[in-house]
Amino acid sequence: MSENIKTVKNATCTFCGCVCDDMELTVDMDKHIITKAKKACILGRAWFAEHTIDETRPVAMIDGKEVSVEAAIEEAAQVLTKAKFPIIYGLSDTTSEAQQQAVAIADYMHGTVDTTTSVCHGPTGMAFQNVGDSTMTLGEVKNRADLVIFWGGNPAEAHPRLFTRYAVTTKGMFIPKGKKDRTVVLVDVRKTASSPVSNINIQVKPGKDFEMIWALRALIKDKPVRSDIEDITGVSIEALHDLAERMKNCRYGVIFFGMGLTMTRGRHFNSGALLSLVTDLNEFTHFVVKPARGHGNVTGADNVVSWTTGYPFGVNFNLGYPRFNPGEFTTVDTLSNGDADAAMFIASDPASNFPKAAIEQMKRIPVITLDPKQTVTSSLAHVAFTTSTYGINTTGTVYRMDDVPITLRKAYDSPFPSDEEILKAIKERVQELIPTKYGTNNLNNATTLTSQTSL
Ligand code: SF4
Repeated sequence: MSENIKTVKNATCTFCGCVCDDMELTVDMDKHIITKAKKACILGRAWFAEHTIDETRPVAMIDGKEVSVEAAIEEAAQVLTKAKFPIIYGLSDTTSEAQQQAVAIADYMHGTVDTTTSVCHGPTGMAFQNVGDSTMTLGEVKNRADLVIFWGGNPAEAHPRLFTRYAVTTKGMFIPKGKKDRTVVLVDVRKTASSPVSNINIQVKPGKDFEMIWALRALIKDKPVRSDIEDITGVSIEALHDLAERMKNCRYGVIFFGMGLTMTRGRHFNSGALLSLVTDLNEFTHFVVKPARGHGNVTGADNVVSWTTGYPFGVNFNLGYPRFNPGEFTTVDTLSNGDADAAMFIASDPASNFPKAAIEQMKRIPVITLDPKQTVTSSLAHVAFTTSTYGINTTGTVYRMDDVPITLRKAYDSPFPSDEEILKAIKERVQELIPTKYGTNNLNNATTLTSQTSL
């Protein structure tokens, strides 16, 4: 065993939206591997243990051939500025500093920027715009929540430390006995690994979440609900009454919701209904709601895109100012419809999970990728950059699922540049090329937002 061992305290795991920042990493500095990740859950341990750097991989490639970073940056900037409808997508597994650079590029080139939110909690982003939300930090949940509801998600397998660090078993300032002081409710269409953790399991019929939420909204206001509500939702009126009473009478209630709600029938109507239910509950007690986010910095992507453009994802700058239209400017659609004529994918592998029509378009247009590893998408890229891994080899900022920013501590250096460094260089070259494409007047439009997005 190497004697060159380093310990990194308070490191952050960026595998899921909990971004636990209390890791203690043991790093073998000779082999460049993390041999131990104290406090990590099973997913976090795998994230750190499986991280290796393939130093034989070129930093930059064009059509599969190794080139200098400068040549690849020039080619990427040329591709993006020559395109009529260039798109940028991904961004949920990189730092917020890199995300800022990506938004600036989209702004300068009058293109489109979209994030993986459009294929997960996009409906929630739309509901936030329409309804708003009663929000919180996970620290408040830990210290105050005596009623915790998980709706359409399976945190035992997706966010394991949400239970132990914040919401279920942990003891808090006003929750001294931990789980004994809490009632945990799971609403889902089937039993999951999270079911045994819950005090109450409610099985709703698939696609009937909206109807159940609407019935709860009626019940908490003492309004009648239709007599066949059990036939519709699969949930008895007694169970609905019981849940409504618990919600009204708790001291501090929280609902975490997942893609079981946002990506099933109803989508943004489901999210909007849930946000409205929580608004209603604040007439009786303190109640908050939070989407349980998957990727390590997808919340940062939402924050950065929102604070710079006013919209959370799927933002188009064709007219020189931001426009938001999910279904038109979201990446599955811009690709499947054949609109996108160049694409830059950052820390994302859409060719492995997008619909066939979208993948076919990726094969027809020039694609630029930034990723620490070879992926399905990077193998079809015209320009491919190998970048360092955020949180392990790169510092920066990420946002926890409760919108709390966290500074990353790197474990060891990587020979590869960060996403931020590559994107900043592409942005600067795009800035130089853009006057040729749009002329001075349009450049003035393009810089309106970018002056805020640039670091
Ligand atoms: S809960 Fe998520 S962030 Fe925390 S250690 Fe597990 S995988 Fe990492």
